[in-house]
Amino acid sequence: MSGPSASPWVDLRQVTVRYGRVQALDRVTLRITPGERVALVGANGSGKSTLLRVLNGLADASGGFQCNTGMRQAMLFQRPHMLRTSAQNNVALALWLRGTRWRDARLQALTALQRVGLQGIAAQNARTLSGGQQQRVALARAWALRPDVLLLDEPTASLDPHAKREVEALMADFAASHGAAGPAHPVTMVFSSHNLGQVKRLASRVIYMEHGRLVADLPVHDFFNGPLPEAARLFVKGELV
Ligand code: ADP
Ligand code: MG
Repeated sequence: MSGPSASPWVDLRQVTVRYGRVQALDRVTLRITPGERVALVGANGSGKSTLLRVLNGLADASGGFQCNTGMRQAMLFQRPHMLRTSAQNNVALALWLRGTRWRDARLQALTALQRVGLQGIAAQNARTLSGGQQQRVALARAWALRPDVLLLDEPTASLDPHAKREVEALMADFAASHGAAGPAHPVTMVFSSHNLGQVKRLASRVIYMEHGRLVADLPVHDFFNGPLPEAARLFVKGELV
């Protein structure tokens, strides 16, 4: 394959992150190409959030790191950060910070809220919304910025089952869309999750982590159907019961 999609979004070589004595990432080598939907799974403390922070450029890492900086990225967390103002302003501010005129930002924010089904509560203080609604506002905010890459750290972990399904459906929708560069540039998604059903539904590739290392890195079908390293097999078995 040739063209821009053949070159990776990121290329990590032997990347290590230390917090004092803790090795949060241990010589991680990883290449992610545009359009991939990568799920990070593993026990608490295995390094999923640290890897997402490295991918988002927020962690102090050693090793080789190459990134296509032409691709815009956005990140979502388990608990979204909402400012004490309307849902619409929360989205509009993100656009305004990127240089959009306030009036246009407000209009685009409304369109983004429509896309996540929240136009009805656009004027409501975002801090008073439910967890699921706040996560949808966070998705609208990310959406409005037209990122090429969406990073999500356990985006549905603190939500009730109904809100989980709604947010998951929006993630699927997001993953099926494309970045600002056009239809030839599908969105790349990297997310961590404890929900293996969700991983099966959303991911094209699954990475199992343990003690900061990538223990398995497989296409989704192989991860759930093929042989796995023993630790990963036990993890999958444990999470599914
Ligand atoms: P996960 O997201 O899989 O639960 P993390 O990436 O949060 O794992 O953590 C990996 C390891 O790094 C854990 O041992 C955790 O305690 C440690 N760690 C993460 N962030 C920090 C930090 N800011 N300071 C010290 N230790 C940290
Ligand atoms: Mg984490």
